[in-house]
Amino acid sequence: MTEQSSNSWVGRRGLLGGALAGATLAAGNTWSATLAQAAPGPVGCPRPRLYTREQWRAVPPQDPAGVKVEPFRPALVVIHHMDYPNSTDYSLEHAFQLSRDCQYDHMHNNGWNDIGQQLTLSRGGFLMEGRYRSAEAVHHGKQVIGAQVANWNTVSIGIENEGTYTTELPPEAQWRALVATCAWLCRVYGLSPMTAIVGHRDLNQPGTPLATECPGNALYKRLPALRAEVARSLHLPVGDGSPNHVAEDLPAPKSSGVRDHGPATGPLDPTR
Ligand SMILES: [Zn+2]
Repeated sequence: MTEQSSNSWVGRRGLLGGALAGATLAAGNTWSATLAQAAPGPVGCPRPRLYTREQWRAVPPQDPAGVKVEPFRPALVVIHHMDYPNSTDYSLEHAFQLSRDCQYDHMHNNGWNDIGQQLTLSRGGFLMEGRYRSAEAVHHGKQVIGAQVANWNTVSIGIENEGTYTTELPPEAQWRALVATCAWLCRVYGLSPMTAIVGHRDLNQPGTPLATECPGNALYKRLPALRAEVARSLHLPVGDGSPNHVAEDLPAPKSSGVRDHGPATGPLDPTR
């Protein structure tokens, strides 16, 4: 089996139910095996395979002790697009390179301690751990403070989606992985998908100094559908749906050559 074909949304692994309950975090690379074999939760709510920092060959944070793990769960799951090219390389190796490139950009160009987001999702549908200790924190219902949404980092976990979704939509594999990832986070943290899943622009809003178009007009318009799909997969009520909160059609970002995934840190955030 190739690594690509093993990236299934793992209903069959449900047969191994309870594996996660016995997990230990004693060694970093037992973690990936544990996650890969973890129980998927309720029927219809498969948990995604999460590739660890060791697997994509992350470098350590500049200051590992400066990565804050808060003892509480986040209240919001923030959806981003990375404003990267819409690559047609859907391989696992491309996904790993994406994470390395993003980490380099965040550490060397932005001057942050580490990669900003807690989770990264490639267009091929591969989910990767972002900031140091994020996988461990999610497992324990805790929160690594990231750098992904200005002034809201203390209360949110961010998913960075490879691609630019101003006019295009994510490929099917990425969309399915996004649904599964949101379902996993909502289940682990006990969040309601209908209220907890937001776009970056919902928090760094149009008309404010920190405004962003992220996650792109096209993907932003899909967020009500994302919330509903996640809720259904968790057997939670959808009700009348959960429409978007701010303008869906924002002007295209100026072509400054700077990636517009929006402001990721603000004066109210305790870390970079
Ligand atoms: Zn963003």
